[in-house]
Amino acid sequence: GGDGDAGADCGQDLTGRGRRLRPMTDAITAHGLVKRYGDLVALDGLDLAVPEGTVLGLLGPNGAGKSTTMRLLTGQAIPDAGELRALGHDLPGDAKAARAKMGVVPQLDNLDTTLTVEQNLIVFSHLYRVPRPERREAIERALEIANLRDRRHTRVDELSGRMRRRLLIARGLVHRPRLVLLDEPTVGLDPQVRQELWSLIDTLRTEGTTILMSTHYIEEAERLADEVAVMHQGRIISRGRPADLIAEHAGRQTAEIYAP
Ligand code: ADP
Repeated sequence: GGDGDAGADCGQDLTGRGRRLRPMTDAITAHGLVKRYGDLVALDGLDLAVPEGTVLGLLGPNGAGKSTTMRLLTGQAIPDAGELRALGHDLPGDAKAARAKMGVVPQLDNLDTTLTVEQNLIVFSHLYRVPRPERREAIERALEIANLRDRRHTRVDELSGRMRRRLLIARGLVHRPRLVLLDEPTVGLDPQVRQELWSLIDTLRTEGTTILMSTHYIEEAERLADEVAVMHQGRIISRGRPADLIAEHAGRQTAEIYAP
């Protein structure tokens, strides 16, 4: 918390890549987004804007609609009504173009276990269409992120659980996405891997990457997010800086909202 909010960084080039943070532009916008599963309304007219270059934490109890929001953003699910845009692309219509600029870290480990660490990254650098001249550097950078340079030739089924998790994350970042979606990234992680992931998110943020992250943990949002949006029954019921929201929802309600 404190004074270090993203607003203070307006217009400053923190990316080192010549890309300016432009908080006036939204990386994600949703208007009146509705998603039903039969009679069940998973998203009930969701309105959400995530400014470019910021980290937004999506909090809320099980069933609030956090994962559904993520799935609509990746084009894995289709909205029944409303508008959704990511990085200037309409979803689901332009999902392919949007996905190419997005990094997604799945909850489930779907690494190819018969391939080596490096081969997994190479496959994804092709899938994400990293231009050939940039591929080598992209893979080295991902190996660095995963802290697996010395394991590049190790098959995934010979890695520890921790290493696999780090590879899964680095794989989603191999194409230097402008927008990263993290669906409960630290669920089930031991404290050390959680710390590693937190510092990685810090790095991405200083590079100007936009991050939408769902989490059960208020401490995680407090530590990482510029802003927090609290979801309940398919809508945002509250939004603000983490410290302000904690104050607002202090007491019994906090326990209800944030309990895993
Ligand atoms: P969260 O991620 O916040 O826990 P979800 O987006 O997973 O919430 O779920 C929102 C609501 O939609 C829940 O009531 C859930 O049971 C329902 N839901 C999600 N996915 C499906 C599905 N594929 N089929 C039926 N219902 C679903």
